[in-house]
Amino acid sequence: MITKMLIGGNWVNAADNKTFEVSDPRTGLPFASVPLGGIRDADAAVDAACLAFKSWAKTNVFARAALLRDAGALVEKNKQEIGRLMSREQGKPAQEAITEVQKAADILRYYAAEGERVYGRIIPSDESGTFSMVVYQPIGPCAAITPWNYPVELLAWKIGAALAAGCTLVCKLPSETPLCALLFIKYITDAGLPGGVINALTGEGKVIGQRILERKEIRKAAFTGSTAVGKDVLASCTESLRRSSMELGGSLPMLVFKDCDLDSAAIGAARRSFKNMGQICIAINRIYAEREIYEQFLSRFKEETEKLIIGDGLDGTADLGPMCKKQGVEAVTAHISDAIEKGARLITGGKAPVIPGFESGNWFSPTILADTDHSMKIMSEETFGPAVGVMPFDSMEEAVNLANDSIYGLAAIIYTQNLATVNYCAQALEAGNVAVNNVDAGTINAPYGGWKQSGFGHEHGPEGLYEYLNVKHVRIHAGGE
Ligand code: NAD
Repeated sequence: MITKMLIGGNWVNAADNKTFEVSDPRTGLPFASVPLGGIRDADAAVDAACLAFKSWAKTNVFARAALLRDAGALVEKNKQEIGRLMSREQGKPAQEAITEVQKAADILRYYAAEGERVYGRIIPSDESGTFSMVVYQPIGPCAAITPWNYPVELLAWKIGAALAAGCTLVCKLPSETPLCALLFIKYITDAGLPGGVINALTGEGKVIGQRILERKEIRKAAFTGSTAVGKDVLASCTESLRRSSMELGGSLPMLVFKDCDLDSAAIGAARRSFKNMGQICIAINRIYAEREIYEQFLSRFKEETEKLIIGDGLDGTADLGPMCKKQGVEAVTAHISDAIEKGARLITGGKAPVIPGFESGNWFSPTILADTDHSMKIMSEETFGPAVGVMPFDSMEEAVNLANDSIYGLAAIIYTQNLATVNYCAQALEAGNVAVNNVDAGTINAPYGGWKQSGFGHEHGPEGLYEYLNVKHVRIHAGGE
């Protein structure tokens, strides 16, 4: 286990030696501690990233790509160790955590290849002997601020793209899950990364996160987290007109039409509503089912949901572990109470199960609420927990209007066999990602980003790489005509 921060290639304690505890969500009890970084540590990490940028930006792109590929191989080789540690501090089942680490290794290799494909352009001129070149250059030292729900994968999106582009990073790791993130970064640096190319800090966001952003040398902020904190991060970027990408909260609508394959819609709904205990920015929050199949869908969805086994994520049999934080359990409970008070019907769940041996953990049962409406928090706010609201609709236009009636616009899901319905909805839905007859809107090689208050900018795909590159036009009069 790594319990130190990484600054300028050295694993260090906080300058003032302060620490904070990391808890096991199965018990709510602390099992490790990491440095509580302060202003001096943040400054040292920014200085190290600035120094390393001078040579990293000039390192041949193929050499950078080779290091990223080696890093991917080392991460893959050690995915069991990183994944099991993630399960311990985040709560998700170990196998799911190990799959996340595998995806992170794949992302590092994907961006190694994508970095080698930054070609630029040659543009002809109306003046003889003259031409224009468009070239891309690394933007500079960057900040990566990430949350705890996918503590390795969300970091990998930023590390892969930034390093391939020639940028260096100061990473502010999530306080709930710093251990797997530190271990992931250790295996990346073991590939032979020069000191200072990645720096990793642990501590409070409003202290070290803010300090990193106060430093004008940081040229881009890559933030993934809540919309509320995203607004603060963005405000910190305005003074220096810093570029930023904001991957923020969501309230994902799923539209279930009467002509769909109802079994696959119900299986998909159970998976995408409750995986990782609903602690996913693209977890399904709201389901709109066409009135003719409303009750039938509810009963199939209930059946699939009740098959999910909750338990210790490390023992290999559970589909769902505990929630990461006690506050998460409180938030989901509050959304459920609000909905029931306003007339929603409880279909399943609604309470915390007792898991023998882990009675003090952050448990909650997957919960379905029917007959909901938009006055209820479950339908209008991000729950970020294992609860979903369902309501009927009568027309395609009504379904789309309900789906769009949200401040968020991260992703949406449609289940239908009708091509015209797909065409209408895919165009009309106000979301950066739309999944049709599947529940996986994100893939490594396609752009992923939000609309409205779900943010802006992209990760994944070439778009994710170009977030870390400046465009330069060079107009050359060469003569020789
Ligand atoms: P959060 O916003 O509380 O924290 C995110 C990160 O920001 C943490 O590392 C935190 O320490 C840091 N931070 C907090 N205050 C800060 C400040 N003032 N300045 C700088 N940094 C600060 O979010 P969370 O609870 O960790 O994560 C859950 C949220 O993340 C949900 O809203 C979820 O939808 C969102 N999320 C979005 C995506 C996406 O791709 N759009 C992906 C995953 C999670």
